[in-house]
Amino acid sequence: MAPWGIHWFRRDLRIVGNTALRENWQQTKGRTLGLFCFDSKFLGRSDFSSNRFAFFLKTLKALQKDLRERGGDLLVIDKLPQKAFPQLLSYCQKKQLLPPSIITWSRDYEPFARDRDAEIEKLLKENGVFTKTNRDHLLFEPHEILKNEKRGEFYQIYSPFARRWFEALSRDEGQLRIASQKGAKSYFEGNRRDPNLFKLRWQAISKTQDFPWQDAMESFEQINSKQVTIPIPEAGFHRAYEQLLLFKSDLQSYKERRDFPSVSGTSRLAQFLKNGSLTVPQIIYELKLKDLHWTSTSHGPLQFLKELVWREFYYSILFHRPDVEVQSFLPHYRNIEWENNEDFFERWKEGTTGFPIVDAGMRELRQTGWMHNRVRMIVASFLTKDLLIDWRWGEHHFMKELLDGDLAPNNGGWQWAASTGCDPQPYFRIFNPWLQGAKFDPDGAYIKTFVSELREAPTKVLHNPEGDRKPWKYPDPIVNHRAQSAKALLLYRRP
Ligand code: FAD
Repeated sequence: MAPWGIHWFRRDLRIVGNTALRENWQQTKGRTLGLFCFDSKFLGRSDFSSNRFAFFLKTLKALQKDLRERGGDLLVIDKLPQKAFPQLLSYCQKKQLLPPSIITWSRDYEPFARDRDAEIEKLLKENGVFTKTNRDHLLFEPHEILKNEKRGEFYQIYSPFARRWFEALSRDEGQLRIASQKGAKSYFEGNRRDPNLFKLRWQAISKTQDFPWQDAMESFEQINSKQVTIPIPEAGFHRAYEQLLLFKSDLQSYKERRDFPSVSGTSRLAQFLKNGSLTVPQIIYELKLKDLHWTSTSHGPLQFLKELVWREFYYSILFHRPDVEVQSFLPHYRNIEWENNEDFFERWKEGTTGFPIVDAGMRELRQTGWMHNRVRMIVASFLTKDLLIDWRWGEHHFMKELLDGDLAPNNGGWQWAASTGCDPQPYFRIFNPWLQGAKFDPDGAYIKTFVSELREAPTKVLHNPEGDRKPWKYPDPIVNHRAQSAKALLLYRRP
């Protein structure tokens, strides 16, 4: 048997612009097989999201189709990689089959994934399998944008991080990384559909009955579909690229429109970035953002690029300070005595707090698996500083509900809103949900879309704490914003 390889897919679920996959393909002359491992015991995790998993499975199906149309293959198995790889190696030995000569994957920066990957790398090396990893969904990895390279000091404030990030983009290496994405568009347009791009199918390896892996895609779909609560959108690289092209025409007005939740003014790309159907370098290439500077005067495009940099900033924070996953970035806010009222938490989750803008956001989340960024900030501030509930409860709930739920930006967003993170909203700046609603949803169009009982209510009652909303059978506010803000200030100031 000729040498062959495995590309272990994780959150790089596409073919084009996938450097690690490409290296595998080059080394094995196209004899690369795709593998995805997921252990069904994760289905029971308290922050597991069946909706996001359904979207993930759809993405895997799209990838499998893409690979098969090009002569390749993807096997989805119900096993931890720590168990799966040794099983395959001993199977190869038993059957006197050539083991994979190379196993590749794209790098991940989450604490759990880094530990797992180090374990797998060691295991494979000990068994004589060559491994290779590459950068994928970020343009610059956390170790590349440092405050002090010698001391390995990382940036804790967004602006200097972003300035350094923009400098790196303008240098040859940054420009090269963007230029190398030029194939994505023609791939999307179908000009590169070579049916013989890959030269191996799993059948060639798994012919015998005692092959240790079974395709689990269908069983995952069956088990998971029972728990899905929202319509799952189309997924995969093609859908993601289509979305990118749709957004292209709105890019110039992004800065003016991005804060208004009733307007479709943002890219809706986060869910595709999360699983690697699309990457930041591909977006920069297609939207022609590569020559922008931190001080450029271009408004919409620059603002948009700065948002992508926020994403990379939060990855950098998570990489350098993995403890933020469980505690506040700022030590002096680790002992806040949250009230953690469980009834309030339930009302927040179901969107019946009596604050129309908050309830609209929470219902949008529940009904669609997405929430507008401005509203994410409002509901997060409300949970922590009006309901006095630990930001980790909110973070956990978002992870359960968001299709784009992603540890680094979710944790960053929550710690920003709760004023416990790096470069956060100062603790004494407390969003007033009534004023936020009036400013960002002045005619109540967003509120009326998601809080159906207020559809006929006059706009003036939507943003007024004293407004009478009883005729519409809408609940009274569960707390008084002023009184709660005063309590929050005390909680944050207490040593
Ligand atoms: P756009 O406005 O079109 O932005 C483009 C891209 O930039 C986004 O897709 C995203 O990748 C990135 N981005 C935009 N804003 C931010 C930001 N504030 N921080 C980091 N990256 C950003 N984003 C997630 O991807 N996953 C999460 O789990 C997540 N949880 C959040 C929780 C809270 C409390 C807050 C305040 C923000 C959170 N965000 C999260 C950031 C942001 O709200 C979403 O990325 C954005 O709303 C997604 O919609 P979009 O793709 O249309 O964004």
